[in-house]
Amino acid sequence: MRDPGREVVAIVLSVSAYADDDRILKVLSPTEGKVGAFQRLGRRKPAGLDIGVRARLRLRHGREGGLNTLVDATVEDPRIHLRSGYGRLALAQFGCELIGALAREAHAEPKQFGLLDTWLVLLDALRGDPDVSLAAALELKALTFAGVAPALDRCGACGGAIEQTMHLEPAGGGAVHPRCGGGLVVSAQVLAELERLRRTPLRELVDVEVDPVAVGVASDLVRAQLGHELASRQLLVGLC
Ligand SMILES: [Zn+2]
Repeated sequence: MRDPGREVVAIVLSVSAYADDDRILKVLSPTEGKVGAFQRLGRRKPAGLDIGVRARLRLRHGREGGLNTLVDATVEDPRIHLRSGYGRLALAQFGCELIGALAREAHAEPKQFGLLDTWLVLLDALRGDPDVSLAAALELKALTFAGVAPALDRCGACGGAIEQTMHLEPAGGGAVHPRCGGGLVVSAQVLAELERLRRTPLRELVDVEVDPVAVGVASDLVRAQLGHELASRQLLVGLC
């Protein structure tokens, strides 16, 4: 009997064309983490699986551990307003790339899934584009859920209290006293701002002023963690 496939809820992270009519989807599922799926289009119409869309997918395991095959899809949230503003779409693409880069394959990722879904629901509900600095809050939360966010509320080396001038090594180790280690020079205010962005719900940060130094540090942390720049950050630079 043919494998009927399994059902997974997922958010589409990226879509790329393959051969003439087919596509390869990267999706994020709360139960399976990052998953690749092959979508044969043939003469059938695509099921509206664009970036950021949340859908219930039926997937069949690929042969010998290869890509899954998408058997069927039902769109749960098409995020219809995302595509009505360049800024919202750019922020949506950025969120998908960021969380796609930090999420693991073959591991449950309920927190990263919830974060990305919240981000996309929020962007879809806005009637205007939010300030691009909102992306920094997403970066800090995604790093936290990936377990790689630096300690910001104490010295990562000696455990002592934060002082007015601290150092921060973006690749890890957290904030440290200048006598305890090296890194970027950051003030206690910037560390407090990073901590606020990390802990405050996204919807409470829409159109709230954010310290631009903290925005720069958040992107430094992501770059250091991934070892490369996110391609979609270029889209955000155009919005500043
Ligand atoms: Zn110290």
